[in-house]
Amino acid sequence: MRIPVCEPYLTGKEKGYVLDCLETNWISSAGKYIDRLESEFSEYCGVSSGAVCTSGTTAIHLAVKALGLKAGDEIILPTFTMMASLLPLIYEGIIPRFVDAESDTWNMKPSEIEQHLSPNTKAIMVVHIYGHPVDMNPVWKIAQKHKLKIIEDAAEAHGAEFENKKAGSLGDIACFSFYANKIMTSGEGGIVVSDNNELIQKCKYYRNLGFDPDPEKRFIHQDVGHNYRMTNIQAALACAQLESLDLLVQKRRNNANQYIERLSDLNWLQLPVEKPWAKNVYWMFGIVLKEDAPLSLDDFRKKLKEKGVDTRRFFYPLHRQPVLKKLEIESNFDCPVADSLWKNGLYLPSGSGLSEDQIKYTCDVIHEHGA
Ligand SMILES: *Cc1c(COP(=O)(O)O)cnc(C)c1O
Repeated sequence: MRIPVCEPYLTGKEKGYVLDCLETNWISSAGKYIDRLESEFSEYCGVSSGAVCTSGTTAIHLAVKALGLKAGDEIILPTFTMMASLLPLIYEGIIPRFVDAESDTWNMKPSEIEQHLSPNTKAIMVVHIYGHPVDMNPVWKIAQKHKLKIIEDAAEAHGAEFENKKAGSLGDIACFSFYANKIMTSGEGGIVVSDNNELIQKCKYYRNLGFDPDPEKRFIHQDVGHNYRMTNIQAALACAQLESLDLLVQKRRNNANQYIERLSDLNWLQLPVEKPWAKNVYWMFGIVLKEDAPLSLDDFRKKLKEKGVDTRRFFYPLHRQPVLKKLEIESNFDCPVADSLWKNGLYLPSGSGLSEDQIKYTCDVIHEHGA
């Protein structure tokens, strides 16, 4: 048996919609699936508008530009997240300020945000790590008090909820990825959503090279734009996935419940949580080896690998990334929780298409080698 960490789960109308693009010749960056994805995905999130683009990373870049953030501004973000949360800030010369993680949700610790504020702070980026939403009440309070914008990096959190409000509707602007291992996919792709249509119009402007919307002035450029356009073919794939999104989320939640049931007797494992106010979509099922674990993280992963079970280590914290040093971007090196998550954390196979047998097998292997 070989169990990958994650595979796309394409069991709806994906093929039919993609063929429709080919048969009608609408294969580039205009077409009905683009419009449909923008309106239906933003509606799913409970906001008014959306702009699709080429990836989650470019979605974050567009959001940052639409908000008017620029070189020298500072943004607060978690250190325990994927590099893609940070790269667009570096592209723009924006200075990152890193907040350590909570030891149970692995999200940014809201109580440590304020100590990183400066007169140059313009925004807070929340990242719903592995599908668990950030506790937004303290974030909203701080943002309001200090007049900061909130960007959601919801790349791992399609369908997640904070107090019954969907990820994507929790800040000023939100970014999702449709990469192949995310909860829904377009192969490669992403979207920016917001209730502020003006911001979304700016995203559409920047994603299309900064062409002037006035046809008479089309080739006269006032700003640095990008080619971040998604194709109708990718949007077709994503439209079909969106029809199945509730099912895809339910499958991930079922996976998590089965893992928790089968692993909760192992006291040396820390399992993911779901706070009472949260709907966790368990993009990845993360576990952390506690101090008294019978084997090291490397040995644990090796044993699983020998039995055909794929795993991934947790994120290497952003404050440790060598590229920051190379660019002489100052960082804060006191993020002990994120450091220990990197040292001891991994995730197990988590795809929506995982079978009950595969989960049982994985848990049996863990029991065999850990007890
Ligand atoms: C996947 C991911 C992204 C980037 O998405 P891409 O589509 O791969 O560019 C950004 N942020 C987080 C937290 C992610 O997990």
